[in-house]
Amino acid sequence: MSNNPYSWIEKSLDTIRRANWYRSVQTIRGRSGATIELDGRSLINFASNDYLGLAADDRLIQAAIEATKEFGTGSTGSRLLSGHRQLHRDLEVAIASLKQTEDALVFSSGYLANLGTIAALVGGRDLIISDEYNHSSLKNGAKLSGAKILSYTHLNIEDLRAKLQKYRQQYRRCLITTDSVFSMDGDLCQLPELISLAGTFESMLLIDEAHATGVMGKTGAGCVEHFGCSGEQLIQVGTLSKALGSLGGYVAGSASLIDFLRNRAPSWIYTTALSPADTAAATAAIKIVREETQRRDRLWQNVNWLKQKLSGVNLLPSESPIMCLGLETAAEALAMAEKLKTAGIFAPAIRPPTVPTSRIRISVMATHQTDRLQKLVEVFDRN
Ligand SMILES: *Cc1c(COP(=O)(O)O)cnc(C)c1O
Repeated sequence: MSNNPYSWIEKSLDTIRRANWYRSVQTIRGRSGATIELDGRSLINFASNDYLGLAADDRLIQAAIEATKEFGTGSTGSRLLSGHRQLHRDLEVAIASLKQTEDALVFSSGYLANLGTIAALVGGRDLIISDEYNHSSLKNGAKLSGAKILSYTHLNIEDLRAKLQKYRQQYRRCLITTDSVFSMDGDLCQLPELISLAGTFESMLLIDEAHATGVMGKTGAGCVEHFGCSGEQLIQVGTLSKALGSLGGYVAGSASLIDFLRNRAPSWIYTTALSPADTAAATAAIKIVREETQRRDRLWQNVNWLKQKLSGVNLLPSESPIMCLGLETAAEALAMAEKLKTAGIFAPAIRPPTVPTSRIRISVMATHQTDRLQKLVEVFDRN
């Protein structure tokens, strides 16, 4: 027993490097927007989840400053002990109003919202059926719950139906989980079909609106609104950190669901309440999302313009501001990302194990000017 018990870590890192799977951070300077400063250069930013350009909006910054001055930097305790303030409740009311649900609950991140919600709703006697491309937080929430986990082929409703038919009745409760906008692909779940199947098989349905909130639907409420399914009994999870430009997560649904989660979701009960600054910034963002519809209009104009110009290249199917250029290997994706960077464009390579096939992932923002989009088209066309 003389071996160093930690020596496997270096070996494992070597394996990661050899597979071209190695990742590291890059330091961005200043405020993030449609352009960013990286390595002393200004690059056009196609890597941001800040779809509406709110993360650097002065009104969000001002709301964060005012809340910090009034309540301090930390919320100092969990919501059920000493951390709960009126501003948390105001944000929850604003989310429920946007989502047209009875109530909502704010978590410290979208990741924690999924972990806590799934772990609270199902257990050892229950079944989770999950789209194979679901976000990591849905997958890890499923593991944490201890339920039996099955996955269905991406967007394949018939596969889901077959699995429900075969396995549903062997379990007490069943939870179907899906991203609404798939985060690494940009395609959409077929929500009306999922709602119908969930009804037929007496199953709960959890939809993760992380990339849809603020982006999809007439008022920015998400895919539930986009598909005309507002008012359906659903578990809607999402984040405050993408189009809402802040930090935190939420669950929206019936009053009894939210009341239950306040009593049973471990990642809500046993963690410190969201900071005053993040909470106030998110509330300010929801107001802007609802009032300034021109931001969403501009985003979709950009998306449609770019899609049309890129009709000749190998884009993966997408119905959202997320667009992916499919590439054969991780090495090719890395080379393409370098080529883009040289041309002044920041759009990272997404590789296994995050996704099954390598790609360059583009996120369009409302604040991208047409000449910036044009530059991306030129580099893609040259390739
Ligand atoms: C980003 C994301 C999350 C996590 O949200 P955070 O607030 O960043 O923790 C969860 N689900 C999906 C689909 C996401 O894209």
